[in-house]
Amino acid sequence: MVFQTLIERKRDGGALTGAEWRSVLQGFLEGGVPDYQMAAFLMAVVWRGLAAEELEALTGEMLASGRTLTWAAGLPPRVDKHSTGGVGDKTSLILAPLAAACGLAVPMMSGRGLGHTGGTTDKLESIPGFRTDLSLKAVTAQVERIGVAMFGQSEEIAPADRRLYALRDLTGTVPSIPLIAASIMSKKLAEGLQGLVLDVKTGQGAFLKEPAQAIELARTMVALGEVHGCRTTALVTAMDRPLGRAIGNALEVEEALLALEGRGPEDLMLVTRALAVEMLVLGGVTDRPAAARRVDEALNSGRALEKFRQLVAEQGGDPEVIDDPGRLPQAAVVELFEAPEAGTVAQVDPLPLGHAVVAMGGGRLALGDAIDHSVGFVVSARPGARVARGEPVASVFARDPSGAALGLAALKEAIRFAPPEPTPLRLVTHRVSALGVEEL
Ligand code: URA
Repeated sequence: MVFQTLIERKRDGGALTGAEWRSVLQGFLEGGVPDYQMAAFLMAVVWRGLAAEELEALTGEMLASGRTLTWAAGLPPRVDKHSTGGVGDKTSLILAPLAAACGLAVPMMSGRGLGHTGGTTDKLESIPGFRTDLSLKAVTAQVERIGVAMFGQSEEIAPADRRLYALRDLTGTVPSIPLIAASIMSKKLAEGLQGLVLDVKTGQGAFLKEPAQAIELARTMVALGEVHGCRTTALVTAMDRPLGRAIGNALEVEEALLALEGRGPEDLMLVTRALAVEMLVLGGVTDRPAAARRVDEALNSGRALEKFRQLVAEQGGDPEVIDDPGRLPQAAVVELFEAPEAGTVAQVDPLPLGHAVVAMGGGRLALGDAIDHSVGFVVSARPGARVARGEPVASVFARDPSGAALGLAALKEAIRFAPPEPTPLRLVTHRVSALGVEEL
């Protein structure tokens, strides 16, 4: 195969056969296709898109590049959830133990921070001692024992995605519906699931900003899941402001602990409950009201929090963090941000805050960078809230005064008090499933 002809074909809007997709992936992984050619090819995909058969072939090849988890018979239904990534999105930390406490088996593989969005693996690692580098054997054994494991993507799972994502990240080729769909679904299908719930974010803090794009991504991923025999439902949720109040690794763990007892901020609880209900429905609970009751019972009884404690202990973390979040990494410098004027909060833009966490040391500029788990924000201002001049509306947590200055500048940019006043998006707008798109 002359790879250049495939680049040219894709550039001109043509399609590749299944065999050609196999040779593209193999060539890239084995070194016959250099990064510069692959980058050109990916850019052609960004512009030209993929036919449904091509997307299935690409996803199948990415999945086949690694191993798939295999499960013993007789386990409860295996259901996971995945988010396309947002600022302050700590729902995975809550949902994995919550769904397990409701009787599902949850093998949840998560990523590290990508760009301005945080990663569940980084958040978990802010708990002293917590290990996310579990072998696949350890994952299956733990899920069989306690119903849940939370682990990072290893070389064993979809290695083609790791290599491709690293290249996409550097070449402006992340925001493509088929590439995002293949990337996410190749990893999730490797978990050997029976059900998958996708949280597809929309708004300026999401990878895909327009609601129509988010619905399209949701439909694409739902179709891929169903083709592979995994029942898949997506909810389209708002990322035009941060989810919850806390942004930053340890701060988000602390907020997740509150949420595990049902005491998290209202927006976070609403999105978490909606996703949990979909997980239970895919796991066989017959109707949504019954699923909602089961979710509330697990939160209110303390069983969800107890499951998290068990998970932390199993994975080497300090379980005392659960009762004493002061044991999490603490920022050296904390500064309040006060409303510069009286009025209504028009907008809390997640993007400057997500970027600032990275700049303050809480995220990575390059793979392998060490991160400071203590830094971030707590933003109490919500769009639509009335505030008085000088009222504290947020705090910045930094490792030094220059980090705090950076954080305060980001808050000033993010929290807008003046018109124009964009109407905040509704938190959960659509359910996309094999039945089609429903407006909620
Ligand atoms: N998350 C992923 O795992 N892959 C993408 O391409 C984008 C978001």
